[in-house]
Amino acid sequence: MGHPAYRARQVWHWLYIRRATNWAMMQNLPASFRRQLEARYELAPLNTVAISGLVPGTRKILAELRDGEHIEEVLIPSADRRTLCVSCQVGCRYACAFCASGKSGFCRSLEAGEIVGQVMLGSSVYGQRPTNIVYMGMGEPFDNYDAVLKSIRIINEKDGLNIGARHITISTSGVVPGIDRLSGEGLQVELSVSLHAPLDELRDRLMPVNRVYPIAKLMEACSRYAAATKRIITFEYTLINGVNDSPELANALVRLIRNMPARVNLIPLSPVDGFTGETPSEERVSRFAGVLNKAGINATVRVSKGSRISAACGQLRRRFSASGQSDAKMEPLDGGEL
Ligand code: SF4
Repeated sequence: MGHPAYRARQVWHWLYIRRATNWAMMQNLPASFRRQLEARYELAPLNTVAISGLVPGTRKILAELRDGEHIEEVLIPSADRRTLCVSCQVGCRYACAFCASGKSGFCRSLEAGEIVGQVMLGSSVYGQRPTNIVYMGMGEPFDNYDAVLKSIRIINEKDGLNIGARHITISTSGVVPGIDRLSGEGLQVELSVSLHAPLDELRDRLMPVNRVYPIAKLMEACSRYAAATKRIITFEYTLINGVNDSPELANALVRLIRNMPARVNLIPLSPVDGFTGETPSEERVSRFAGVLNKAGINATVRVSKGSRISAACGQLRRRFSASGQSDAKMEPLDGGEL
């Protein structure tokens, strides 16, 4: 735009350090420059429609994009972290059996700005910058690779939000080319792989992506990623009663990952509209975890913090779309300055 380079640094500072919500706030920029920027760029790519959940617990934001589509993000605070789970697509084309996002079908991929916009919106609801970002909301990150990577580089930038790569997790359903591409990026981001079954026949039914990238190919890509990045890979395994939670399958899982630097998150299924699977008993969950732990695999049972507020991936948007309005309790945004 013909302005000196230091103006870019000033704008960047206003955006990501001061978290300015309009161009008028950027008082150290000439008024004419602010008007130029305002005419050319919109600062807020999304508006809050609803927030469910209560402080200090997990909260979920349903947000509207400029084209009227809806996405979700989830705030998961704990004693030492402010985690934010962001979406990378509106809906998802991967159609995993137990996922509300997959059931809603695919609409479009998000732009990098719409992903970073979720981080800015989450920061305003938290009242401060999140400490951890997880790409585990709606959509498959590797189906929107370039925008996801661009958003990571923006939120990772040390003179901006400065969220460390090791505090950023990409969760994939197992898209092998994406895993390979990420391992060559020179980024220390955490990789999380939704596995959910250790045998192809079963995984084919739960996760159609497996028909394209079967387990053997996926494991090879995970090994390459671990070797290239020296990172431990997290495998997500949703336990579904009587489907994938037997000790035999736990042993099959052990055989699959025992030679890899890996940990396993076991997540008892949260009920999903349109999926008949049930939550297993605590006894079945601990028996499955016991097999893994006995084999020396670090396995942790994670309780879904979001099921009561429709925070399982895509549920809030799905209910909103089905009814024309959210079932979430409406709460105003924190009106304080961002
Ligand atoms: S689990 Fe992830 S990849 Fe599978 S349908 Fe849901 S959003 Fe898509």
